[in-house]
Amino acid sequence: MIIANNVTKKFGKLTALNNVSATCGKGQCIALIGPNGSGKTTLVKCMLGMVIPDNGFITFNEKNILHDWLYREHIGYMPQIGRYPENMTIGQLLNMMKDIRFKSGGQSLDEDLVKAFKLPDLMQKRMRTLSGGTTQKVSASLAFLFNPDVLILDEPTAGLDPVASEILKEKIIAEKQKGKLVLITSHILSELDDLVTHVIYMQDGNLLFHKSIDRLREDTGEQKLSKAIASVM
Ligand code: ADP
Repeated sequence: MIIANNVTKKFGKLTALNNVSATCGKGQCIALIGPNGSGKTTLVKCMLGMVIPDNGFITFNEKNILHDWLYREHIGYMPQIGRYPENMTIGQLLNMMKDIRFKSGGQSLDEDLVKAFKLPDLMQKRMRTLSGGTTQKVSASLAFLFNPDVLILDEPTAGLDPVASEILKEKIIAEKQKGKLVLITSHILSELDDLVTHVIYMQDGNLLFHKSIDRLREDTGEQKLSKAIASVM
């Protein structure tokens, strides 16, 4: 579904991505892990078309994403820190996004998270007044709103309370079971345990490995995924 083909990205002298290739398919939930500065966010931003590789390219359903901007409609992105117009209310923001959806011809909306996070009770609240956790709930709701085929979630539970984290986790599992592709970065390894099918490990801009969790368990001798991941970091 999304394929990175020999992607290299440099910022000045620093090589943020060094000839990275990866194939990410339907129904997979891929944990993108590695130390800070290893290139995870840069890879994700290349997939979103927000960063343009110096070499190599990314395809989505066999089309180069830089030649086909409509592909973005199929990707839901939850940034680590969502930034929104400060004076807009949650209701205005959601309505604006729905308008964009309908104007582009898309009809189906997924408001499961909007309801589960009880955002309808907070529609009059302005974005600048929200706590970090509520802002994260808005970000998560927006990522799923257009019913995307691919979900890219950057540290999705950072700042969420345990109940909201569990709601989000269940939603991710449900979407994965529907055949969606989920890419997730997280520092909280234990939360990946019931979620992940594959692991991509990055270090210094290099993709060191891309394995199924069964293979990772076998190679490390650790049954628990979080322990298997910890043992290679
Ligand atoms: P990670 O997400 O794994 O923490 P990043 O992809 O954010 O890593 O960063 C990889 C490297 O690229 C880091 O050294 C970071 O400082 C650098 N980098 C990322 N974005 C930029 C940018 N816009 N300009 C300059 N350097 C950047």
